[in-house]
Amino acid sequence: MENCIFCKIIKGEIPSKKVLENNKVIAFYDISPKAPVHVLIVPKKHINSLMDVKKKDKDLMGELLTTATGIAQNLGLNSGGYKLVVNNGRGAGQLVFHLHFHLLGGWKKDATGFAV
Ligand code: 5GP
Ligand code: ZN
Repeated sequence: MENCIFCKIIKGEIPSKKVLENNKVIAFYDISPKAPVHVLIVPKKHINSLMDVKKKDKDLMGELLTTATGIAQNLGLNSGGYKLVVNNGRGAGQLVFHLHFHLLGGWKKDATGFAV
């Protein structure tokens, strides 16, 4: 979609620090990280938000989820735990209207395992 920043990243028109790419999904580091590790998992198909996901997209949604959990494991986030966040709509803080999962983790822990 024209003027969509993530479509431009997918097309390679804007550079990104990629974590993974296949024919359906791309994942890259967030330019303005909100956690020590902050990766965005993005379908190559332009979908504005979860509000626009159709039944026919269910395989793609599964692909996004398993891609995110796989990246979390590969980046060593499982032991410390992680968040998977999707902002939907302006009111929820969505700024880029191309569906994406935020994978957030890598916090330092205190002796009891809590994030500090
Ligand atoms: P949203 O608020 O829409 O859920 O999240 C959009 C995210 O995209 C933000 O965390 C923001 O930092 C990130 N972002 C915006 N523009 C770019 C960009 O050009 N490159 C990368 N890597 N991340 C971006
Ligand atoms: Zn797009």
